[in-house]
Amino acid sequence: MALGFTAELAVAEADRCLECKQPKCIEGCPVTIDIPAFIAAIQQEDFEGALAIIKKDNTLPAICGRVCPQETSARRSA
Ligand code: SF4
Repeated sequence: MALGFTAELAVAEADRCLECKQPKCIEGCPVTIDIPAFIAAIQQEDFEGALAIIKKDNTLPAICGRVCPQETSARRSA
């Protein structure tokens, strides 16, 4: 089970985003979270803002973050 990142690791992971012109991450998300905006907020260390972006489309992010089969979704969209 994912236990979360430290702030430093979260920013490092967010910095891996390529800021795609036509991002596939949103359409690959079952609840279409604005993932690039969420990641941009993390890059700015605006963790409250990042959470607000997620909660616009998902009222249960802690549960979805644990049960969403990201690895399977990534393979499907590849
Ligand atoms: S998170 Fe979205 S915008 Fe960032 S690299 Fe992945 S698909 Fe592209």
